[in-house]
Amino acid sequence: MPSTDSALAINGSEPTCDFDWPRWPVHDSAEETAILEVLRSGKWWFGERVKAFENEFANFQGAKFAVSCTNGTTAIEMALRATGVVEGDEVIVPCYSFIATASAVVTMGAIPVFADILPDTLCIDPADVAKEITSRTAAIIPVHVAGRVADMDAINSLAKQHNLKVFEDAAHAWGSRTNGQGAGTLSQAGTFSFQETKNMTAGEGGILVTDDENLADLCRSFTHCGRTKGSAWYDHDVLGSNLRLTEFQAAILSAQLKRLPEQIATRERNAARIDAALTEVASVQTLAAAPEMTRRSYHIYIFRMAPEFADKRDTILEALNAEGIPASAGWYRPLYRNRVFQDAHVGPAHGIKSPLANKNVDYRSVECPVCESVCNDAIWIPQYVLLGSDEQLEKLCLGLQKVLKQVANL
Ligand SMILES: *Cc1c(COP(=O)(O)O)cnc(C)c1O
Repeated sequence: MPSTDSALAINGSEPTCDFDWPRWPVHDSAEETAILEVLRSGKWWFGERVKAFENEFANFQGAKFAVSCTNGTTAIEMALRATGVVEGDEVIVPCYSFIATASAVVTMGAIPVFADILPDTLCIDPADVAKEITSRTAAIIPVHVAGRVADMDAINSLAKQHNLKVFEDAAHAWGSRTNGQGAGTLSQAGTFSFQETKNMTAGEGGILVTDDENLADLCRSFTHCGRTKGSAWYDHDVLGSNLRLTEFQAAILSAQLKRLPEQIATRERNAARIDAALTEVASVQTLAAAPEMTRRSYHIYIFRMAPEFADKRDTILEALNAEGIPASAGWYRPLYRNRVFQDAHVGPAHGIKSPLANKNVDYRSVECPVCESVCNDAIWIPQYVLLGSDEQLEKLCLGLQKVLKQVANL
C-alpha cells in the first residue's frame, strides 16, 4: 500500500507542484527602457544597437566576430554558404535535433546525411560520423544538445583527416563553455537562435560567431542583400538575402544577455539538484556528467527512462504533468523519420519542388538505433523550470521521485 504522501496526482491527489513556474520570457525595466529609446530615436535599423549587441555576444562567447540575422535557421544557412558548401555536397548532421539543422542543408541544395548520437550525451557520435563520410562529404554540423557541448575534439580531428568543414549548431548553448572555451568557437563558426523559448530571446533572432574575418564578411553580405564591405548601396556583388535584425530586437537582446550569466548559474545549480534527486531512482537513466564543461546553459534538463519503462513514457508524462511538472517527450522522432525525408525519393506531396528531388536520395532505410531509443525514452524539463526558487525545486524533485519511483504501478 503506498503511503498517503506518495499518492499520485494522476489518481486524484493534490499535485506536488501546486504553484506557477517562473514566467518566460523574463523581462523588466531594462527591456522597456531600451525599446522606448529605440522607438523614440526613429532609428529602427542601422543604428548602434545591432552592432553593439554583436560585439557583446561575440565577447560573451569568446569569438572575434559576430553576424546577427533573422533566426537560428538562417544562421545555419549562412554558415553553409560561407563555409563553401555547394549544391550536391553531403553534410553530416545528427538525427536528434530540431529540423532546422537538416532542413537548412536541404534549402542550400546540399544533402543531409544522418549520424547517430551517443546514448549518454545525446550529441552526435563521432564513430558514426566516421562511417558516414564519403567522397562527397563537405561538412559536419554537430549540435550541442540542451547546451551540452558535443565531442568537438573527435569531430575536428575527423574533419582534418578528411578535409571537411565544421560548424556548430549552438542554438541551445548560449554561454556554454568547455575547458573555458565558448560554444561556437570550437570550429569554424557557431550559430545561435533567439526565438521565444530559447534561453535569451527577442521573440525571434539569430547570430553566427567566428574568428574568421572573411567568413564573417561573407555572412554579412548574405544578410545584407549581397552588399560587400564598403560597397555602394545599390551594388550587389554576391548573391544575398535580407536577414537583418532590427534595432528593437538588438536592444532586447542586449538586456537579455546582461541577465544571462546569473540565470545560467541558477539553472546549473538547479540541474545539479535534479541530478542528485534522480540518482536514487532506479527507473531512470541519467545522462553522463560533463566535468569538462566549465559553464553549461541547460536549455533543457533531459533524462531517460530505463529501457523496460520506455513503453510507459506517455503515462509517465501524464503523471508528471498531473503533479504540476511541465515535462514533455521532446523530439519524439529522429529527423529522418519526418515525411520531408521519408518522401524525398518521390518528391514532396505539395507543389513546391524539393531541392532533394532528382538527387537520388532515399532515406527510407536510414536507421540510427540510439536515436530511435532516445526518441522513445527521453523526458524533457524546460529551462524556465530551472529558474524556479529553492522551494519550487525541492517540490519538483519530490514530485519527480514520487512518480518515477512508482512507474511499475502506473
Ligand atoms: C531552435 C533551433 C534552431 C533554429 O532556430 P530558429 O531561431 O527557430 O530558426 C536550430 N537548431 C536547433 C538545435 C534549435 O533548437
